[in-house]
Parts: sequence; C-alpha cells; structure tokens
Amino acid sequence: MVCYSNAMQGVTVIEHPIIQARVTQLRDVETSPAQFAEHLRQISALLLFEMTRSLLTTPVEIQTPLTRTTGAQLVRPLILVPILRAGLGMVDGMARILPDVTIGHIGMYRDEATLEPRHYYFRLPTNLAEGEVLLVDPMLATGNSAVAAIALLKKEGATSIRFGCLISCPEGLLTLTTAHPDVPVFTAAIDEKLNEKGYIVPGLGDAGDRYFGTL
Ligand code: URA
Repeated sequence: MVCYSNAMQGVTVIEHPIIQARVTQLRDVETSPAQFAEHLRQISALLLFEMTRSLLTTPVEIQTPLTRTTGAQLVRPLILVPILRAGLGMVDGMARILPDVTIGHIGMYRDEATLEPRHYYFRLPTNLAEGEVLLVDPMLATGNSAVAAIALLKKEGATSIRFGCLISCPEGLLTLTTAHPDVPVFTAAIDEKLNEKGYIVPGLGDAGDRYFGTL
C-alpha cells in the first residue's frame, strides 16, 4: 500500500498504531457487523481528537476543591454532521466524547450508474454559522458526496468545516481538496485506488452494509 502522508495540502493522515490496528480489523472480511460497529466507534473517537486538535480555546476561571484556577473552554460550539448512511456509524464514538455536541444529518446516496451523489435529506442546526462543523463519512471514494455535502453546508451558512473519514483514496482526496481547499481533511488511511465500480481498493467493502449488516 502506498503512503501519501504529506503529499496533499490540507490532508492529515493519522498514522497512530491503535488506529491502524483497528482499521485493519475493519477491513477484515471475517469481522462481524457487531465487531465492525465497535471498531468503528473506537476509531471515530480517536479520529475526533486529531480532527479537533487545532480548535481555539479561551481562558475560563473556575474553582477547584482547593483553589481558583484558569482553565480552557472551546470558543465555538461543535456540530457533528454524519453523511448518511455509513456516517451514522461514527456518531456514537464521537458523541461519547462530546456529549453536548449538536448533530445534523445529510442523507446522500450514490447513483450506481453515474456515481454522482444525490441528496435526499438534510437537517442542520440553526447555529451552523457560529459552529465548527465536523463532517464525517467512513469512506472518501470518488469524493463527490463529500463535495456536495460541503457545498450544501456552506450554502446553509457553515463557515468552518473539517472533514473526517477512515479510508480515502488519491482520487477522492484530489476531488475534495480541489473543490474545497479551505476544508481540512483527516483520514486514517489512503488506499491505492478506486475500482471501476467506485469502491476503494483494498478498502473494506461497503461501510454502510458492513455496519448495518445489510450484506
Ligand atoms: N463507499 C463504501 O462504503 N465503500 C467504498 O469502497 C466506496 C464507497
């Protein structure tokens, strides 16, 4: 597998050993939907830390049981937006770390003939403009769904967006970073290629089917 770690502007490849080990378990065809869901939950929480590493904080005065001290609080509210349906599998792991997060949804499906994205649903919070939007989808394949989802978020008022996925490929990264160079991308792996059906190779198959057990 080729490693493109620093090849693309705005793309962070998270090469943490625990994440790499979990991604390997996700890829394994023997992994059951229940195990898949658990691994996805855990990786999503780890991915969240990298996605949010550069968030701005402001000082806040608090009282501990012993003394007053200055801590930190986030400047902007966080808004988690999974791209349906596979993105739903990333929500639980992230929301456990961020119990106060607001969650929006964008429903996309891929037209299997054209590979073009169609959106059939979206519901986004009203504080989109003030928030830090974390858009998530386990797979960045053609990049078309992510590009369309980001365009929709911007149209609805989002001003700061980060995109997180587990597995990406050079084609999808190029499409996404070209269309939205202002959106940082975080991925746990950059795979070799897309096949003629739009699947990432080696990949893990259809993330939604593997998560929901609809194989
Ligand atoms: N979506 C998936 O779930 N898997 C792929 O390989 C490509 C798109």
